Amino acid sequence: MQQSLDRFRECGLERVRRELASPAGTALRWQGRDYLSFASNDYLGLGCDSRLAHNGAWTYGTGAGSSPLITGWSIPQQRLERDLADWHGTEAALTFSSGYATNIGVIPALCLAGDTIISDERNHASIIDGCRLSRATLRISRHNDIDHIRELLVQSPSGRRWIVADSVFSMDGDLFPLADALALAREFDAAIVLDEAHATGVIGRSGEGLAGTVPRDDRIIVVGTLSKSIGAQGGFVCSSRLVVDYLIHTCRSWIFSTSLAPPTAGAAIEGIRIIRQDRLLRERLWANIRSLSETLGIPPNPSAIFPFHIGRAQEAVRASEALMEVGILVPAIRPPTVPVDGCRLRISLSAAHSETDIQRLADALASLKQDPGGEKV
Ligand code: PMP
Repeated sequence: MQQSLDRFRECGLERVRRELASPAGTALRWQGRDYLSFASNDYLGLGCDSRLAHNGAWTYGTGAGSSPLITGWSIPQQRLERDLADWHGTEAALTFSSGYATNIGVIPALCLAGDTIISDERNHASIIDGCRLSRATLRISRHNDIDHIRELLVQSPSGRRWIVADSVFSMDGDLFPLADALALAREFDAAIVLDEAHATGVIGRSGEGLAGTVPRDDRIIVVGTLSKSIGAQGGFVCSSRLVVDYLIHTCRSWIFSTSLAPPTAGAAIEGIRIIRQDRLLRERLWANIRSLSETLGIPPNPSAIFPFHIGRAQEAVRASEALMEVGILVPAIRPPTVPVDGCRLRISLSAAHSETDIQRLADALASLKQDPGGEKV
């Protein structure tokens, strides 16, 4: 273990935890210093919104006390599941303790021995782990390559076929070509498990995600998290009553884990209500996305995640540290999250950023590029 840790350090892959002493908003106090943060997935600023603090803790307690099939299925959790289904236009929904628990439970419960899973090579770790726990045959498709997905479907003639993808890829911020994938799913009688983690609250007519941009189809099983734009914690699946009933009987990370805490469910209900009702909030985020795209001189970014490519791990860490010196927090993303040569700064925008915040970031990024000492950056 010590040798491994030494090696991580030598390769610039050492991980350290640093203390956050404020809410995780755009202005935060981290490791004893104040920063302007572009590190959070709280894309609408709801994680710091006091309206989500009126969440039923006094009525329902702070802990669910048991798993949902014992006594843990609280009234806030039931209401949250109804609201999620209504928002996504599905018959039913099921909530989990995290988005990670959702993927590692739902994928192996649905995709069985004899089935084939076609998983995008840039899918999130929780999808990768869900696929590894499944007994289905796993085929990896080239990133966003519809022709390759078709090829893999053709090569898997027997058993059920599942296409599994992030709707917004978490390290690149690009979108899965859902309309094309849905056409393929119809042609080959396949289903799609779509992880909306970074699309919820950002994309779709009422912020419901990428699935909201194509005609509703039961072939699309939506999974997601309550922990990013919704400003709470937990995960969910939205699908037909049949799929949800089946998961209630088979999904191990749901059956064997304590239910969502009632105040967490209460906060998520309020977060979803605000997202559905307050269009201006989403418009503010999109104005910020357009503004940063223009300032960086890149085409309009399709999501709130901007990758700023650097190269290797040490250089990405150095770039992140240089930004920290001027009070700006942008995380360096390194292996195993991205390939060895694909290290980057990952900028996450929020509706809570001001135009001044965005200009400050753009200026700092420009001076990173100009600094001769930072050439390798
Ligand atoms: N899916 C994707 C695409 C994610 O980016 C994440 C979290 N980073 C998750 C799932 C896991 O969600 P949670 O943080 O709620 O466990």
